[in-house]
Amino acid sequence: MADIIHLLPDSVANQIAAGEVVQRPASVVKELVENAIDAHATEITIAIIDAGRTSIQISDNGVGMSETDARMAFERHATSKISDAADIFKIRSMGFRGEALASIAAVSQTELKTKQKDAELGTKIIIAGSKIESQEPDACPQGTTFTVKNLFFNTPARRKFLKSNQTEFNYILAEIYQTALANPDVAFTIIKDGDLYAKYPKSNHKQRIVNIFGKQMDKGLLPIEDDSSIVKIHGFIGVPEMARKTGAHQFFFVNNRFFRQKSFLGSVIRAYGNLLPPKEYPPFFIYLEIDPAEIDVNIHPTKTEIKFAEEFNICQLLEASIKCTIGKNNIVPSLDFSDEANYSDMFSFKTSDPVKPPTIPYNPSYNPFKSQNEASYPNTHSNERNWEKLFEDYQNNKTENQQIIEFSSSMNNHENADNAPHVEFCTQIQKKYILAYVSGKIYIIDIKRAHYRLLYDTFYDNFNHTQEPSQQTLIPIRIDLTADEAETLQTILPQVRELGFDIEEFGKNSFVVNGVPSNIDISEAQQLITDFITNFEESNKTIQDSVQEQIARTLAKSASLFRNPTMSKEEMEQFVLQVIQNKSFTITPEGQIATIIVEPEDLLKKFN
Ligand code: ADP
Ligand code: MG
Repeated sequence: MADIIHLLPDSVANQIAAGEVVQRPASVVKELVENAIDAHATEITIAIIDAGRTSIQISDNGVGMSETDARMAFERHATSKISDAADIFKIRSMGFRGEALASIAAVSQTELKTKQKDAELGTKIIIAGSKIESQEPDACPQGTTFTVKNLFFNTPARRKFLKSNQTEFNYILAEIYQTALANPDVAFTIIKDGDLYAKYPKSNHKQRIVNIFGKQMDKGLLPIEDDSSIVKIHGFIGVPEMARKTGAHQFFFVNNRFFRQKSFLGSVIRAYGNLLPPKEYPPFFIYLEIDPAEIDVNIHPTKTEIKFAEEFNICQLLEASIKCTIGKNNIVPSLDFSDEANYSDMFSFKTSDPVKPPTIPYNPSYNPFKSQNEASYPNTHSNERNWEKLFEDYQNNKTENQQIIEFSSSMNNHENADNAPHVEFCTQIQKKYILAYVSGKIYIIDIKRAHYRLLYDTFYDNFNHTQEPSQQTLIPIRIDLTADEAETLQTILPQVRELGFDIEEFGKNSFVVNGVPSNIDISEAQQLITDFITNFEESNKTIQDSVQEQIARTLAKSASLFRNPTMSKEEMEQFVLQVIQNKSFTITPEGQIATIIVEPEDLLKKFN
C-alpha cells in the first residue's frame, strides 16, 4: 500500500496554529498592543473598523524594526525577546513566544510599516494568508504600524463564530483596558469606525483608572501599599459601597501584566470581611512587582493565569495590606451609611439611597388564597373579589421602593408561607405561552405580554424613588445615537436615571451606561437602550400620556422582547408567581390579553 503520511504545508500549519492565538479581533489587538509596549512605545493608537472584522490598525512610536527583522517577525517562533529556555524566568516583556505575528498573518491580510530611529527609510511588507506579497522601502515615521484587514478571510468557519459587533468591540475594549491600566505612562488613543472613541493621556495609575472608568471612581478608591522582600504591592481598592453583584472592575497585574487568580481574589474578599453586602464584590486595581524568577508566565498564550512560587505568602500579604488600608480609613461595619452627612462626606459622586436590606411588604396575617381554598369553588364572584382585595391590600401596604418582585419572593420565602401560592404544574407551549396550574386555577400566560406588564408596573412604581443601579456593567457600555435621539434621551435623562440606569453624556450624541436596574438583562442593555430611544421617539408622536407613563411603557416593551423564551422549570415557576401576583396581570397596559384564567367550573361547563 502507498504511504499516506505527508507534512502539512506551512500555510496550513500556521492557520491551524493561529487558532490558538487568534480567536477573535480582540486577540489581535492584545498581541499588537503588547508588542508596541515591548517596543518601548510611549504613544499607541488603535483604530478599529467594524469591531475589527474589516480592519485593525495599531500604530506605535516604539523602536521599530530593520528591513530583515520586519520580514523575520512573521516567522513562527521568531522573537527578539528570549534566546534560550532559561530566559523565560527572567522575562519582563509581554511576549516571548514569537507566535503572534505568524498567527495573525496566517488568517488575515496584514500590512506592516516600520522604521527604526536612525534609519533613513522604513520598510513596508504586505502579507496575506502567510504569503509575503511585497516588501519595499517606505518613508514612514519612526515606529511601527500594523494594519490587519479582513480577519479570518481564509477561515470562514472562524469568522462565523464571531459575535455581534458590539460584543466583539467590548472584548477589544477589555483587552485595551488591561494594557492601558498596566501602562499608565503610555498614551492611548482609540478610534472606532473613523471617530475618536477615547483618549488616555500619559498619567499615573489613579488618573488612568478614572480616565477609563469615570469620575465616580475618583472618590471611591483607597490606596494600598506594601513592600516586603517577596513582593511589592500597590494599587487601589474600592470602598464597600462601590461593591457590585457583577464584581466589575477587578484587575490584578504582576510586573505590568494582567492576570487572574482565584486565591488572590479570595484574599481580597476575606480582607473586607463582613463589610461587603452579601454576594457583592468590590472593584480593585492591584499591582504586584516581583522578581520574574518567582513567577511562571509560560502557559498557554491566551490564558491569563500565572503561577506564583510564593502564592500562599503573597495571599497573606495581600490580605493584610488591604485590611490595613480598610483600618486606616476607618471603614468599620458599624459605620452608619444611612447617615446622610457621613455618606456624602465620603463620596462626591452621585449618591442615591444608601444600601439597605430590602423591606418586605408582607402581611403575614393576610393570605389571598385562604378563602379560595376553603370556599367551595363554584363561587366565581367571591373569587374575583379576593383577587381584587389582594391587589388593593398590596397597593395600600406599599411603601416606597417596594417592588412586586420583592413581594412575591417574600411570599415564597416567608417562614409562614404554608398557604403561599404554589405552582403545582407548569409547562411551556411553543416557547410563547406558559400553561400553569396554581392554587386551583389554570393560567395560560403569554410570556412576552405578561413580562411586559410586569416590567411596566415595576418601572412605573419606581418613579420618584431613585433606584441604585443594582447591576454594574463590566465595562462601560457606550451608546451612539443620532442627533435627534440624543436630544430625546437628554430630555428624559433624569427620569431614566430614576429607574436605576447609571447613564452619562459622553461627548457628541454619545452616552455611557455604567449600571442598569436589576430587572434588565445586562447583556442586552445596549440594544435595549437604543431600541428604547427609537421606540420612545415613535410613541412620543402618537400617545398623549405623561412622560413617566411613556417611559415605563416603552422601556418595558423594549426589555420584554429580550426575554429568552426557553425557561427552566424554576424560572417558569418564579415567573408564574410574579405574574399572577401582579395587579392587572391579565392585560397589557394597552389592554391586550396577557393571561387567560380558566376556572375549574369553566371546565365543568365545557364538558356539559
Ligand atoms: P513575541 O512578541 O512573542 O516576540 P511576536 O510574533 O508578537 O512575538 O513578534 C515577533 C517579533 O517582532 C518581536 O519579538 C519583535 O522583535 C518584533 N516586533 C513585533 N511587533 C513590534 C513592534 N510594534 N515594534 C517593534 N518590533 C516589533
Ligand atoms: Mg508579541
